[in-house]
Amino acid sequence: MAKAEHELTWKDIEIGAVVTEPGNAAIYKTGDWRSQKPDYDFKRCIKCGVCYIFCPEACIHQNKAGFFEADFYYCKGCGICAYECPTRVITMREETEK
Ligand code: SF4
Ligand code: SF4
Repeated sequence: MAKAEHELTWKDIEIGAVVTEPGNAAIYKTGDWRSQKPDYDFKRCIKCGVCYIFCPEACIHQNKAGFFEADFYYCKGCGICAYECPTRVITMREETEK
């Protein structure tokens, strides 16, 4: 079983960063890399799902109201969702201290 991210040392990293176990990326908190985060104005959202399709981290989910929003545990703040959104719902804002 893969170690938790905080238990990893450089000795645990495979040469070439090869993925050795399927699904092991789920344990990595990629949201830690973020310097910006998406901010939503859902009044303009047409629920088209384009942001969901384009997110390279596959971290966008539909909430109970049907709006698409990021899981900030994984969102790395790349801004692709904001770029692709046809109605400009998403604005990238500077990340604040966690
Ligand atoms: S900023 Fe990037 S990683 Fe975060 S939800 Fe948008 S597309 Fe996904
Ligand atoms: S791409 Fe924009 S309009 Fe479409 S679901 Fe995402 S936030 Fe809403």
